[in-house]
Amino acid sequence: MIIEETLEQKKINQMKEDPLANTRNIGIVAHIDAGKTSLTERILFHTGRIYKIGTVDEGTATMDWMPQEQERGITITSACTTTEWKHNHINIIDTPGHVDFTAEVERSLKVLDGACVVFCAVGGVQPQSETVWRQADRYAVPRIAFVNKMDRVGANFFNVLVEMREKLGTNPVPLQIPIGSEDKFKGAVDLIHMKVMTMEEGSSKLTGDTASLPDDTLKKLASKYRHDLIVKLAEADEAIMDKYVHDQGITPADLKAAIRRATLLNKIVPVFCGAAIDNKGIDLLLDGVSDYLPSPLDVPAMRGTNPESGQPEERKPHDKAFSGLVFKIMSDPYVGKLIFIKVYSGVLKSGSYIYNATTQKNERIGKIVRMHANKQEIVKEISGGDLAAVVGMKNVSTGHSICDESHPILFEPIHFPEPVISMSIEPKTKADRDKLGETLHKLEEEDPTFRVKYNHETGQTIISGMGELHLEILVDRMLREFKVGANVGRPHVAFKETITQKTESVGKFIQQSGGRGQYGHAEIIMEPGGKGSGITFTNKIVGGAIPKEYIPSVEDGIIEAAKNGTIANYPVTDVAVTLVDGSFHEVDSSDIAFQMAGSIAFREGLRTGKCVILEPIMSIEIITPDNYLGDVIGDLNSRRAKIESITHKANAKIIDGSVPLSEVFGYATALRSLSQGRAVYTMEPSYYAEVPRNIAEKIIKGDL
Ligand code: GDP
Repeated sequence: MIIEETLEQKKINQMKEDPLANTRNIGIVAHIDAGKTSLTERILFHTGRIYKIGTVDEGTATMDWMPQEQERGITITSACTTTEWKHNHINIIDTPGHVDFTAEVERSLKVLDGACVVFCAVGGVQPQSETVWRQADRYAVPRIAFVNKMDRVGANFFNVLVEMREKLGTNPVPLQIPIGSEDKFKGAVDLIHMKVMTMEEGSSKLTGDTASLPDDTLKKLASKYRHDLIVKLAEADEAIMDKYVHDQGITPADLKAAIRRATLLNKIVPVFCGAAIDNKGIDLLLDGVSDYLPSPLDVPAMRGTNPESGQPEERKPHDKAFSGLVFKIMSDPYVGKLIFIKVYSGVLKSGSYIYNATTQKNERIGKIVRMHANKQEIVKEISGGDLAAVVGMKNVSTGHSICDESHPILFEPIHFPEPVISMSIEPKTKADRDKLGETLHKLEEEDPTFRVKYNHETGQTIISGMGELHLEILVDRMLREFKVGANVGRPHVAFKETITQKTESVGKFIQQSGGRGQYGHAEIIMEPGGKGSGITFTNKIVGGAIPKEYIPSVEDGIIEAAKNGTIANYPVTDVAVTLVDGSFHEVDSSDIAFQMAGSIAFREGLRTGKCVILEPIMSIEIITPDNYLGDVIGDLNSRRAKIESITHKANAKIIDGSVPLSEVFGYATALRSLSQGRAVYTMEPSYYAEVPRNIAEKIIKGDL
């Protein structure tokens, strides 16, 4: 205990020296319904920032600040809320649980330093948790896990550990094991101190030695897991290994320090348990966030490129020059645009001028706002390692790098997937018409996976996004937040076109009758490119057949031509173009002439390269009670689905497979009626594949 106090003292001293050591930027990630909103609520409540606790069921949760999130009970946006716990300053970056919003998850993962992953003690590791886990792996985010809903019928803490190992391939290390479950869930054995921890609403108390446990099985289980904890730490940490093999006493402080080291290195995932709804175990989890998740000082420096020299550079929180990344923009109808920024180095001051390295323009920073659960706090500045929102920046989008003009840096932009679904949208009334364009523009600024286009041929405005739910929610928001009524058309699949054969083609744009003529001539080779490669352009001109200054024009012409394919006017993708030859005219050649030549050559290549139509394929997972399995599969077969596996879990079957997006419009309703509302599914864009001939014919005729 004395050692621990020293550790505590050390922490306080460290905080005095460097407050950043006590900052935590964390995300709470979970499968939908695992209890993320409830947990976040309780954390904010617990940390004393909100006074009236909201519950999700009544639709009053504070993090979910958009009304339709409350109605649907899902969290969509990635706002950042700041709170304090003991000596720590915690920024909670909200992440969505629904897979239609993977881009939101990715963007949050980019700016958080550690994550707390919530699992349901009954549902275990559900499909979306797997998706999010893999994303977090990619960013090497250190994690701790919280097994929630220990009070629910069917709660099984140990089963979640098994599933974490088997499904996520991770190394879960419980720091507690529950005492009782379901309505007998009382608390946990704290494996670090080997003490009984009684969990009461809002506070947990150490109440005695494990010897006081009446249940022998539990005593044995606790010894076993304590032993496992030490063995796993010894495997991951030399200091513990040393003490273990030399049979020296291992103190709780030794264990805690080793758990921290191993968690930061992603060698283990400490596991906690509790029941968010009853506010049980949250205080211990918060201690866990402070003890085991990284501070901004523990994470690797942020890497970027100097836009002037093209050389790689790094930024650490204490570097002098300011740098940051815009990770979220939210339009608030009252406050205006809130621009959420993660500061990687230096200090961002309100009223100062910064340089946007992405747009290469300077901008003035207005107010800086820290968002708390129940209030906005205006602050003068934020320093490296911290996050806050800025009001008053104009030309800025998600993913932009901002910095000191004298020390420019470009961070790797956030990757957003291409939309796969689109629908037409039109205003309901005249008044709506005036506001529609402006509102769509605001939403587009906020959400990089949402696109708005005007089709000049049909006079329609087309919106595109990641799925039906995604677009539904945006249309809903327009009505609620911006008071714009709109009718939407039938959803359409974002088909694409590509070539299937290598082909060579020539494009000539020559006009030489009277006055100044036009002369552009380009010869290209077109080959099928890799999946998802888009249009790539390589210049292999030798000996100046086309002067250097006209080569970008050829490329521009090709990119322009690729916007409309030759089969059914869909954008062309996955074609590797190589410019191999051409010619020019001293007087008549121009940028325009070479753009035209590029376009003509590309379109010619589409004609000879055996074009096909591609469609987006969604990966789908359906969980259905056993007795509806036959009906669900029968229905899937009629939708051109490919079933990859059917596994069994509790009383349910899990079907994994893929299905073309065009076949699953309105699937939520269909599945509900097939299973009397008991089956659930998740779906996300996976890849593009060639459509079968009969479907291609329908698409060409305009029936799809
Ligand atoms: P989210 O979708 O992950 O944000 O989950 P929510 O916080 O919205 O919770 C989903 C449902 O589970 C709600 O009906 C909650 O009341 C319920 N829930 C959350 N935590 C617990 C818990 O600890 N025990 C029980 N029994 N239910 C819970």
